[in-house]
Amino acid sequence: MAFTRTACALTLAAGLVATARAVDRQGSGQTPPASPRAEQLKQEALSEVDNLGTFTQQMVDSIFSFGELGFQELETHRYLVDILRKNGFTVEEGIAGIPTAFMATWGSGKPVIALGSDIDGIPQSSQKPGVAYHDPIVLGAPGHGEGHNSGQAVNITAALAVKKIMEREKLPGTIKIWPGTAEELVGTKAYFVRAGYFKDVDIALFTHVSNNLGVSYGPGGGNGLVSVEYTFKGESAHSAGAPWRGRSALDAVELMNVGWNFPSQYFS
Ligand SMILES: [Zn+2]
Repeated sequence: MAFTRTACALTLAAGLVATARAVDRQGSGQTPPASPRAEQLKQEALSEVDNLGTFTQQMVDSIFSFGELGFQELETHRYLVDILRKNGFTVEEGIAGIPTAFMATWGSGKPVIALGSDIDGIPQSSQKPGVAYHDPIVLGAPGHGEGHNSGQAVNITAALAVKKIMEREKLPGTIKIWPGTAEELVGTKAYFVRAGYFKDVDIALFTHVSNNLGVSYGPGGGNGLVSVEYTFKGESAHSAGAPWRGRSALDAVELMNVGWNFPSQYFS
């Protein structure tokens, strides 16, 4: 639970800071030091995170048990959407044409804070919980080898803790929760953006578990993605009379493919 609380605290703190900054932007344009009132609300949010500990852990374990591959996160999707609706969120399912994607929204007005986290598993990583070596529940089955079972749990916990305070204090603001569907396949985030789901978002906070219970914030690495299209053009020749005059475009494709296979681990 230690990492859950820490990650939640981080998301909460960032959310509250974002709220404070967005509110302040309407005023002086400077970010003031946190007020004693804001500090008090942060402490209150943290203790609410502790209160939700069992709920959070159940989410972590349930999503772990589904262990679904990208674009097949059907049980995970159903489970998360159900929790979000029960807690007052409006959920649009199947966003950007992706059946296991959704955008959940609660609140109104600014700031708009979007909390995201990946939900898909990876092949052949079925694993018994709490075992420190590879010991599959189902041999060869997929599982949560990269910890994608934990992020939605901490995000939803953070959102519920902040929502409770926002309701009581009548604070304006919108919380959005969305899944990194098929993240291992680099499958969906660009499509969400292209479909306009982040147009009105002031800040997007993304949660991802790390090893050694580490927590960090700020710009992360691995954000670059370049799409390049190569075209290959050969040169015709009479293959019986003068084959040496020809250049095979297909040979070039195959040579480039072989070449990229070797350094690819440095870029993925
Ligand atoms: Zn991941």
